[in-house]
Amino acid sequence: MKWSIRIGRLFGIPLFIHITFFMFLAWVGFESYRNGQSAGDALSSVLFMCTLFACVVLHELGHALTARRYGIPTKDITLLPIGGVARLERMPDDPKQELWVAIAGPAVNVAIAAVLILATKLSSTMFSIGDASVNGFLGGSFLSRVIVVNLFLVLFNMLPAFPMDGGRVLRALLATRLPYPRATHIAATVGQCMALLFGLIGLTHYGSPMLIFIALFVWIGAAQESGMVQMRHSLSGIPVSRAMVTEFHVLRPEDTMADAVELTLKGTQRDFPVLDGERVAGVLLQSVMLATLGRQGAHVRVADVMQTDFQLVESSEMLDAVYRRLAEHRVTIAPVSFQGRLVGLVTMDNIGEFLAIQGALGRPRRVF
Ligand code: ZN
Repeated sequence: MKWSIRIGRLFGIPLFIHITFFMFLAWVGFESYRNGQSAGDALSSVLFMCTLFACVVLHELGHALTARRYGIPTKDITLLPIGGVARLERMPDDPKQELWVAIAGPAVNVAIAAVLILATKLSSTMFSIGDASVNGFLGGSFLSRVIVVNLFLVLFNMLPAFPMDGGRVLRALLATRLPYPRATHIAATVGQCMALLFGLIGLTHYGSPMLIFIALFVWIGAAQESGMVQMRHSLSGIPVSRAMVTEFHVLRPEDTMADAVELTLKGTQRDFPVLDGERVAGVLLQSVMLATLGRQGAHVRVADVMQTDFQLVESSEMLDAVYRRLAEHRVTIAPVSFQGRLVGLVTMDNIGEFLAIQGALGRPRRVF
């Protein structure tokens, strides 16, 4: 995620903090200063925020480590003011696995609260006349606040709305009986209704700007999840060969930037596969061509600047898998081969066009 600072690694998963989280901390500090609190109170506030931060990290680790059990790695964990985000490489396709992964986060907070409740019960019976100042700072009130905040995390995350865990739980439960896109659509609609409700409450004088902010966040999250699933559904079960570009130009390794410029101006193709005999040796991207022209001139050979670590797609691969692969590697073009021969190109633009056409065909036709 942009604007995130890496602070370390946990169980092999990089941990990032988003810059807005620090802004949130500063806001908390400013608020306690404005309310004229003492230095001790301020320190207690900071300590409390750090504890809260640790609880959120543990929550995200709950998701990440459960996903790992199903063979799904986590790219990173990022902390935002509204909570954490564990970016899994992919979501489990099996609804039961999604259910466990989603529930594991809030379960961690339930466990933390339960342990703390037990600990405070034990300590209050053991040190009933304990030192009052120590009790005030780290004991009773501090621990009870940590317990309350963990219970709040459970309630907030279990709201049945995307992108909260509760939204995923709801989708997974629905998906055991309904097709996946339908289940997602219902869960997303519930989420957006809830966002609307939050927004309305936020606008009344009982509400706060934070509630409106959460409403917006939930609304966007629900729309995104729904859109992504619909798209994956439209791409699934369709081989690449049905959506690839079959009319295209190729370059040879010994060609120069001047040849690439000529081909670019002649047609609409921007990126070119480079063929060495029958074999695909690389890809020349327009951005690379332009940079090379500016820096070194038109005489530079294609072989010297082409990308050799490109994604090669088999014509029998399914579009949804290819789309996922291209998005993961942040590439916009991939050569398609059949039995070792170059037969086409697949680009992100291309997939977009394919989706638009599928959408148009799938829409009910008007009858006049
Ligand atoms: Zn969660």
